[in-house]
Amino acid sequence: MRTKLVWVLLFSLTGCMLLTAFSSPQKHDRRYYESRGEVVWDVPMSEKLIAFTFDDGPNPETTPQVLELLKQYEAKATFFVIGYRIDKYPDIVRREIAEGHEVANHTDNHIYFTRNVSEKTIAQEIGNVQQKLKQVTGQACPWFRPPGGFYNDKVIRIAKQYGYKVILWSWHQDSKDWKSPGVNHIANKVLKNARNGDIVLLHDHVEGSSQTVEALKIILPELIERGFRIVTVSELMAHKVGQTGHNPNSFLYQEK
Ligand SMILES: [Zn+2]
Repeated sequence: MRTKLVWVLLFSLTGCMLLTAFSSPQKHDRRYYESRGEVVWDVPMSEKLIAFTFDDGPNPETTPQVLELLKQYEAKATFFVIGYRIDKYPDIVRREIAEGHEVANHTDNHIYFTRNVSEKTIAQEIGNVQQKLKQVTGQACPWFRPPGGFYNDKVIRIAKQYGYKVILWSWHQDSKDWKSPGVNHIANKVLKNARNGDIVLLHDHVEGSSQTVEALKIILPELIERGFRIVTVSELMAHKVGQTGHNPNSFLYQEK
């Protein structure tokens, strides 16, 4: 009797699991997207290169200061700009390009692409900035970063239709500078975790006062002292080693 009960329970449990597997949409982990080359968090390599990315600009006060510091330390960066800020400050975007940096797409209005956002909105947000950057810079950059890091299969597919690859950032290099946690906090986060192939997330536009510039004054000389070269995402990608995308040395590798 007891054996029969166990079998009945086992069958119903298996049934439930099968039902769940077929009824809920497939959810993929980081490894899935990395192995397909659809989303980038960091780039496995043996060389001492780190990509710096600055989001949400241009900002008329902060961005020129960031550019001065990058020049001083012979560093290059990728600026993920917002469309309506390109309209306001096209000269800053042109300066970024003129000084050897890269300007990439971060949507027109900084909308979070959560599940309920329509395909039309996603396409407009990406396409508008593609047009604006083409007009202002005369160049096409293949990198797209969704605001807040919100992505899903729909976002990846539409970005791809526009010729973009989704670039996020190293999980251990999220400086949280956008919430002004303190200059030393930002600097320590980047410096303590720095390793080959990282993509560092910073912001050249922060609502309220920005601590990013002061933090850069600590970060840049220290990384250069350690032998790192600060580069654009394009240069980092050009030095990628292996095909898996996932960095086996990534000691902080985890799903989140
Ligand atoms: Zn952003």
